[in-house]
Amino acid sequence: MDKLKGMPEPVPAAVLEVFAALRRAGFDAWLVGGCVRDRLRGAPLKDWDVATSADTSAILESIPRAIPIGGVHGTAMVATAAGPVELTPLRANSLAGDLARRDFTINALALDPLRAQLFDPCGGQRDLERGVLRACGEARRRLDEDPLRALRAARLVAELALRPDDELRATLPAFAPALARVAAERVRAELDRLLAAPLAARGVTLLRETGLEAVLFPFASADAAILIERLPAGDDLRLSAWLRGTRSAALLARWRFPKQRAAEVERVLLLHPVDASLRTNEAAVRRLRKRSRGAKILERALTLRRAELGGGDDASEAHAALDALAAAIARVRHHPLRVSDLALNGREVGAVLGIPPGPRIGQALRFLAECVLEDPARNNPENLRALLREWKPEDKR
Ligand code: ATP
Ligand code: MG
Repeated sequence: MDKLKGMPEPVPAAVLEVFAALRRAGFDAWLVGGCVRDRLRGAPLKDWDVATSADTSAILESIPRAIPIGGVHGTAMVATAAGPVELTPLRANSLAGDLARRDFTINALALDPLRAQLFDPCGGQRDLERGVLRACGEARRRLDEDPLRALRAARLVAELALRPDDELRATLPAFAPALARVAAERVRAELDRLLAAPLAARGVTLLRETGLEAVLFPFASADAAILIERLPAGDDLRLSAWLRGTRSAALLARWRFPKQRAAEVERVLLLHPVDASLRTNEAAVRRLRKRSRGAKILERALTLRRAELGGGDDASEAHAALDALAAAIARVRHHPLRVSDLALNGREVGAVLGIPPGPRIGQALRFLAECVLEDPARNNPENLRALLREWKPEDKR
């Protein structure tokens, strides 16, 4: 048990009140895990995790405002002016037992804010100062208990700018196959946090070098790490970057990424590299817009390609071509692309052709859309009527 050297900031009164209430009811309580670690780093806190000797019903009795949030650990939540406080009964008979179950030394820290005492049984504070990520106890055994910890290691390395100690580093490769058995939702949550981290490249590189990436995202290309860091943190373009050349939809479904996110990643990749079949004629650019189904996806494909080209001298010509493409895209921004953009609707088409509603109307509309895609000036009712009168259904494309 250490007396605290210099606490970055006092624990807010609103949080201390929760501790005081538990104390009055005869229970001990400690701040634990990420919030203690982040305070020592001087980083801003999102939430407050508390471990207490009270069980769930005693928590709810001592703090009437607390709400049980369910889950296997019997956690309760109190909203305070300083953010949400999550209270979990000790996961062992003692604080030491609770801390010993945690994954890494820097997460096995507890703080009694009323007595200003830090509990650091695994040497987490020293590791934090040295910038080292180390398993609490024997790495092999800890990863064996929960192979997700291998992925958490990469995520923490990326989030906190740490390096794994030699033992942890050497142990990771053996746990690559085990990742396949971890619940996909847990894997996905860690991948998302990794991709939101400022040093994501460091985490991705660790995954690659330890063989974990080959289980998560097989066949990802070797330059993924640098490319990811050139794209905004937390943006799904980072996923697109990582998954170039893979069957992205299948991989994202495998790890239970939401369908809509997976679909967008795939749509960006379908356009990638966006300058591959670059022709400057406007009809081709309109076709590209149509194929991209939305200006946003096209915009994103351009951003991904720019990041991929990087800033080297040899890339300047390709960048100039992309600028020209972006300008051409902007020029055709308001051009009609599809049936819904036509100056005639299905009913009007039927009237011109003298036919009842049916598949032939759809055929005619698609023919007109195709004509208009070639030349947007054709998109006015008189012109379209003239085209229709000349149209022969075998013209269908
Ligand atoms: P925060 O989200 O507050 O930044 P964190 O980054 O450490 O915290 P969380 O996933 O929120 O990550 O976990 C909170 C704490 O619970 C961790 O600091 C750690 O002590 C413990 N913990 C979480 N997951 C595991 C695990 N798989 N094995 C062991 N301990 C874990
Ligand atoms: Mg947390």
